[in-house]
Amino acid sequence: MRVEGIVQGVGFRPFVYSLATSLGLGGLVGNDVDGVFAEVEGPAEAVTRFLAQLEQDAPPLSRIERVTTKTITPNGTSSFIIAPTQSGGARTTLVSADSAPCADCLAELADPADRRFGYPFINCTNCGPRFTIVKDVPYDRALTTMARFEMCRLCAAEYHDPADRRFHAQPVCCPACGPRLRLLDAAGKDMAGPELPGQSGAGQPGAGDPVAAAASLLRAGQIVAVKGLGGYHLAVDAGSESAAAALRARKHREDKPFAVLVADLAAARALCAVDPAAQALLTSARRPIVLLPRNAAGAAGAGAAAPSVAPSVAPGNRQLGIMLPYTPLHHLLLRETGRPIVLTSGNVSDEPIVYIDAEALAQLAGIADAFLTHDREIHIRTDDSVARVFRGRPALVRRSRGYVPEPLRVPLAFARPVLACGSELKNTFCLGRGQHAFVSHHIGDLENMQTLRSFTEGIEHFRRLFDIEPQVVAHDLHPEYLSTKYALDLADATGVELAGVQHHHAHIASCLADNAQRGPVIGVAFDGTGYGPDGTIWGGEFLIADLAGFERAGHLTGVPLPGGAAAIRQPWRMAAVYLDAACPAGIPAGLEVARRNEGSWANVLTMARRGINAPVTSSAGRLFDAAAALLGVRDVINYEGQAAIELEQLADVAERGSYPARITADGPGGQLRAAGADLIGAAAADLMAGAAPATIAARFHNGVTTLIADTCTALRDRCGLATVALSGGVFQNQLLSGAVVSELTERGFTVLVHSRVPCNDGGISLGQAVVAAARDQLAAG
Ligand SMILES: [Zn+2]
Ligand SMILES: [Zn+2]
Ligand SMILES: [Zn+2]
Repeated sequence: MRVEGIVQGVGFRPFVYSLATSLGLGGLVGNDVDGVFAEVEGPAEAVTRFLAQLEQDAPPLSRIERVTTKTITPNGTSSFIIAPTQSGGARTTLVSADSAPCADCLAELADPADRRFGYPFINCTNCGPRFTIVKDVPYDRALTTMARFEMCRLCAAEYHDPADRRFHAQPVCCPACGPRLRLLDAAGKDMAGPELPGQSGAGQPGAGDPVAAAASLLRAGQIVAVKGLGGYHLAVDAGSESAAAALRARKHREDKPFAVLVADLAAARALCAVDPAAQALLTSARRPIVLLPRNAAGAAGAGAAAPSVAPSVAPGNRQLGIMLPYTPLHHLLLRETGRPIVLTSGNVSDEPIVYIDAEALAQLAGIADAFLTHDREIHIRTDDSVARVFRGRPALVRRSRGYVPEPLRVPLAFARPVLACGSELKNTFCLGRGQHAFVSHHIGDLENMQTLRSFTEGIEHFRRLFDIEPQVVAHDLHPEYLSTKYALDLADATGVELAGVQHHHAHIASCLADNAQRGPVIGVAFDGTGYGPDGTIWGGEFLIADLAGFERAGHLTGVPLPGGAAAIRQPWRMAAVYLDAACPAGIPAGLEVARRNEGSWANVLTMARRGINAPVTSSAGRLFDAAAALLGVRDVINYEGQAAIELEQLADVAERGSYPARITADGPGGQLRAAGADLIGAAAADLMAGAAPATIAARFHNGVTTLIADTCTALRDRCGLATVALSGGVFQNQLLSGAVVSELTERGFTVLVHSRVPCNDGGISLGQAVVAAARDQLAAG
């Protein structure tokens, strides 16, 4: 028997061992480069039961992809052994993702009689750190950051006992031999520890237990940096307004919501509505941050927070990002603090999360009052994953810790190994081999040296881990993206073949791959910015696409982007150009957005009309920006997508009114153009007539929904396709995507949405990879 998938480092051999021995079967089980192999012999019905239970009861962290069997001649053994590991050959086995502590480990953690009572690094083959500590393969302790901790006699006995839950658990350790916690002050001096937990209990800074001491700092309103699985977090008491506000000020994070770590489901329910699908996500071993609707107290008035979360945690947001503890340390810390804590990435502003101890002390010194740290190194920086539930299915917003490096099965095989370099913002990269796409952890925006280093080092690491030597390198068409430049440099240096993939085609291909489909479909790619082959900036696109190619069948009518990047930072500029397009007879006087920006309003319009530093864009993101600025939501943004996010929050979800938009077939070859300006014109008229901004925001959303559905219907009439794939960051808007799916479904379309990878640019690398694979297949005939 051969078992392929994630079957190493997850307790598979001891599982097979105990299953076989419990059924009285003889034989052996072992690991090799392809996964796990086993031979069993005994009564036929026992062998049948063995095969059935093998798949049914497989260890929680394993992911069986394929089991193949063949009949061999029995050699008459009744004993069962674990065969020594063989080495050599190509690596096709898979490293598993990091996992939250299992129930058995949590029980030991809480048991005063257990030798790992209160030990913050407890783990076993069913749980614990994996991807973040692995330096190389095969997955073996010597090639992890646990190598420096020599196992004590007791741990070694467990490690070598096939019947033990810790058999070959590479990170196995205990208070006697494993990593230790320390609590440091802002200057890096010891405040508590490294004594063992439970030895002293004073709970005061300077006393023995670092967790208790850190908890008392948190309760006193201080900011504590906490070393987690994939990097450092900054923690404060979620109920303390002064602490949350101080964290915002010191982190230079003005508006973006913070995530909250709560002890359990009951604590999550005290803050948010948790439906069964959300519960499954929250409690899964992957433990993403789950975006949840706040309970009535928080959802009632805009900006009002539920009583136990301070207003500054997630200002003006109907949702809250909640996660449950995913390390033993989190469990201990929450037990000591007794209340929810904010847990946000340890970084300044938009820099990547800090994960190296010395860098943490240096970079977070101005933010954190203390550091709860330890001596188990993090090998690879990994942010928390972010997910939500959309129509009963998980939808990842950021795919990282807990999911990576688990591969995604793709709808067509990679004939040659592919590296896809991804986008500029929310970058991920992707390696493809066989049926597997290895999408990387969230790298971030490739705009500073640190992120770029994460990108290049990450690619090297993945290539080593999965033993992939890319023969094709896929990249965005934007020549200035650092990911594009990396691809071109690599081709220069190695002669590897390049595959340029248009940004919105990559979005639609990503959605197809996410749904294990190959198309063709009507693809709706609505996002902020993507390089268009015609020299304009695309972003409100209707494509007839399959994995190999696309045709631009329609798009939002282009408008000028006055000042380029400045127009992205200042949504009021988009209000100006959209009003200009909507009102050929002149923008009506008396609009607040014009008055608020009167100093530059006329100049921006002149620039736009003359086409000076004003490239043409069909971006859907900019259309939402225009509506947001018109309604007084926001003239200038502090983070990407902020105006659109706040516009969604403003909308009155009960409002059914809508604005019409003209769709004309006057583009080249009958290409459809949808007049987004009509929506802005109607919104301005409503505003002048005294309609409430919340009502107008809803009518605008409904108008965009109808525009999308009408365009798709026109394309279906034309080409006969009745499946629509929705992708692009704009579809993170739940109000919009919910309405669009409903409307399209009602009109008889099959609708594909993202689930396993984000609809935003985090999914671009997967799309690029499958496009390259599809073109390869096409070329091969
Ligand atoms: Zn465990
Ligand atoms: Zn030990
Ligand atoms: Zn995009």
